[in-house]
Amino acid sequence: MAEKRDYYEVLGVERDADQRTIKRAFLKKAREVHPDVSDDPDAEAKFKEVNEAYSVLSDEQKRANYDRFGSADGPGMGSGYVDFSDIFGGMGMDDIFSSFFGGGSSRGGGTARRTHGRDMAITLTVTLEEAARGCTKTVSYDRLSTCEDCHGTGGADGAKEKQCPRCHGTGFVTTVQRSIFGQVQSSSPCPECHGDGTVIDRPCDMCGGQGRMPTHEKIDIEVPAGIASGRQLRVRGYGEAGFRGAPSGDLIVSVQVAEHDRFQRSGDDLFCTVDVPMASAALGCTVEVAGILDDERVKVEIPAGTQFGDAITVDGYGMPCSGAPGTRGRLIVRAAVRVPEKLTGPQREALERFAEAMGETTAPRKTVGDRIRDAIDDILE
Ligand SMILES: [Zn+2]
Ligand SMILES: [Zn+2]
Repeated sequence: MAEKRDYYEVLGVERDADQRTIKRAFLKKAREVHPDVSDDPDAEAKFKEVNEAYSVLSDEQKRANYDRFGSADGPGMGSGYVDFSDIFGGMGMDDIFSSFFGGGSSRGGGTARRTHGRDMAITLTVTLEEAARGCTKTVSYDRLSTCEDCHGTGGADGAKEKQCPRCHGTGFVTTVQRSIFGQVQSSSPCPECHGDGTVIDRPCDMCGGQGRMPTHEKIDIEVPAGIASGRQLRVRGYGEAGFRGAPSGDLIVSVQVAEHDRFQRSGDDLFCTVDVPMASAALGCTVEVAGILDDERVKVEIPAGTQFGDAITVDGYGMPCSGAPGTRGRLIVRAAVRVPEKLTGPQREALERFAEAMGETTAPRKTVGDRIRDAIDDILE
């Protein structure tokens, strides 16, 4: 497509149009140009354009950015919100529309039954700190929600339900096709009533009789302290709305806990590494490490004679145990014993005396020139 058209122009609404007007204009346009119903060869591109315009203008934040900067991604995006484009694992806009316009209801044979909304799945990534203290995250995603105009009934004011004339209330249509195996009979959900068995004499003009419509949803997800990667949180009723007032599906949020640069996690235990100077490791000492919770300082007793890689366990400073509130796993600290890389004159002499006492044979002393240079370096430091 050539020049990008103005979103307001695409939907045919005024710049100060309210959300209701935008939604209505969008649904009218979408019905016209949806590739499943339009014969226009450019239907697909036109549908995408309408879709894009709506996804921006229906979101107050994106719309404000668009009005100000001519782009939905104005400065300030990615603030506290999780962008739905990287968290959706369930349905994209196209899936929502194909279910909206073309008999997406699939189920086994039998009698007509009102189609329940499907569950939807999204992924939510949290940091290890957030997983440790628990947090509330705002997620946004697209779903079919109950139509506000008809409150899910699918009918305009005073509309009545009647038996679907096409399937005579069974919800299914049967087609017979000839094939090399003889006649093949197949049944599929009735395209007229979406398998419901009834139609509405005067459908709601907002949702076209479905009782549900595409919306951009923003909800807060409570992530409990101690959550493990891969756990699923179920938010009842926040999946796809059901057909004409049938129960909604659930939103299933798969939580991913991001890798941490200092801590590794194994169950409720946390592992980290701490530098211990050579002499302190030999003599024993106390070091302080930052814990996983805000401002948490953990005192770690390094026993005399600690070797490189030795692990010291501190109870009660791991991740909160999600099964037992108030309790925490262990913090396991690995000692990284460090030898000094550079020595001042007095340090070198002390170490030489120590080596002598241990009966060690060490590298010969530096030349006089080296020692002068070292002395100058010491003064300059
Ligand atoms: Zn409606
Ligand atoms: Zn029917």
